[in-house]
Amino acid sequence: MKPLMEVKNLKKYYQISSREGNKKQTLKAVDDVSFNIMKGEILGVVGESGCGKSTLGKTVLRLHEKTEGEVLYGGRDLFSLHHKEMTELRKSIQMVFQDPFSSLNPRKKVSSLIGQPLRIHNAGSPGEINGMIEDIMNEVGINPMYKNRFPHQFSGGQRQRIGIARALALNPEFVVCDEAVSALDVSVQAQILNLLQDLREKHDLTYMFIAHDLAVVEYISTRIVVMYLGKIIEVAEKDELVNNHTHPYTKALFNAFPLTDPHKRAEKKKIVMGDVPSPVNPPAGCHFHPRCPYAKAVCKEQYPPLKEVAPGHMSACWLNE
Ligand code: SF4
Repeated sequence: MKPLMEVKNLKKYYQISSREGNKKQTLKAVDDVSFNIMKGEILGVVGESGCGKSTLGKTVLRLHEKTEGEVLYGGRDLFSLHHKEMTELRKSIQMVFQDPFSSLNPRKKVSSLIGQPLRIHNAGSPGEINGMIEDIMNEVGINPMYKNRFPHQFSGGQRQRIGIARALALNPEFVVCDEAVSALDVSVQAQILNLLQDLREKHDLTYMFIAHDLAVVEYISTRIVVMYLGKIIEVAEKDELVNNHTHPYTKALFNAFPLTDPHKRAEKKKIVMGDVPSPVNPPAGCHFHPRCPYAKAVCKEQYPPLKEVAPGHMSACWLNE
């Protein structure tokens, strides 16, 4: 089966000014990342804040331009498409944003917010678009009789349902969910995750699901990518990653989020010992070595290659050698 999306050696760098302001520095938000997404799968992307996962999500949708590399969608390189072709493709690739409180224009009615992509893409007559808005509101569990209300008249969970309706209005096939439940209470998170799963089955959707919360990623994903300082350090099918993870950083993530104990999960503890180093000036060799209890001499000098440690299971660590 051909992948729906192929990401090849993708880099997204930013030039930023140093604190002193006298020289430019390079922030490597996404650094030489390659992976495929198969149709119908839910690829979870997990890592601490600042690891580059949100930049990755936006770059694979070409909401950011790349620095280097390729993103093939259905075999076509997204970055070689002209404006008109990209606008057409946007119907198929959509994003659900983290914060339903700020991603919805507070001055627009719900009907206008959900209908905007339909109108931009001339999806039908005003009457037909009105029918589509009501259908999608029903699907995400918002009564269409509230379509003339404004975002502030809804709860956080309802606002995220409206955000999902807006993303799904054009019937896409691939959706990036960027921290889509992070701003919600745990009980509401479960409802939104279940809604996303129901919609995936009904509409044959493929998701890239980005979150810092390992429990959320474990709940919804079929395969999981772990990122650290702009790089993929481990990737495997969900059950394989949960039961047989090999990378010390993944181990630290699992130790910090005991998934079966919701009380411990809620503890706001630092997820791994020590602070995340700056992506502007990452440590030489394996970027995790200053925090890694297993670091050896080679770890401080050479970056470990991403190697297959079991079928479909890749890990970047010198301990695999
Ligand atoms: Fe730790 Fe070395 Fe493996 Fe990096 S390569 S995770 S420092 S053991």
